[in-house]
Amino acid sequence: MTRRRLLTWLSAFGAVPVASGAGAADPVPTRLDDAEWRRRLTPAQYDVLRREGTERAFSSPLHAEKRRGTYHCAGCDQVLFTSAMKFDSGTGWPSFFDTLPGVFALSTDFKLLLPRTEYRCARCGGHHGHVFDGGPRPTGRRWCNNGVALRFVPEAA
Ligand SMILES: [Zn+2]
Repeated sequence: MTRRRLLTWLSAFGAVPVASGAGAADPVPTRLDDAEWRRRLTPAQYDVLRREGTERAFSSPLHAEKRRGTYHCAGCDQVLFTSAMKFDSGTGWPSFFDTLPGVFALSTDFKLLLPRTEYRCARCGGHHGHVFDGGPRPTGRRWCNNGVALRFVPEAA
């Protein structure tokens, strides 16, 4: 499926917000203080999204999720991935070879000494994971995402 067709398909059931004016009606403020994030998120979600934590490998039920649907940010509900972008990386974390356009902001972290590319939700700033080379074609990339930072919405039957 091409990206254009995919977006058309997503828009058909309202999964992609219309670009113009989407911010005005945004029910999730993108700038919340720390106490408000603590209140909104579970402790596990807070640790990953707001403290750059990493969940234990194979701990997320989304690792084995194979149904068709969309993956949303657990912080702000922005749609990040579709099931068509997911693949079994064998690493223990939900992995995707592509993302919807413009949904992440990238930066470099040195927590493990060697530089890694960290990515955050472009809307709420929540940390999601790291992106690596070595994914399948066509992108050759592997977006390694903490499952607890995602909310899966199955496609309606
Ligand atoms: Zn978000």
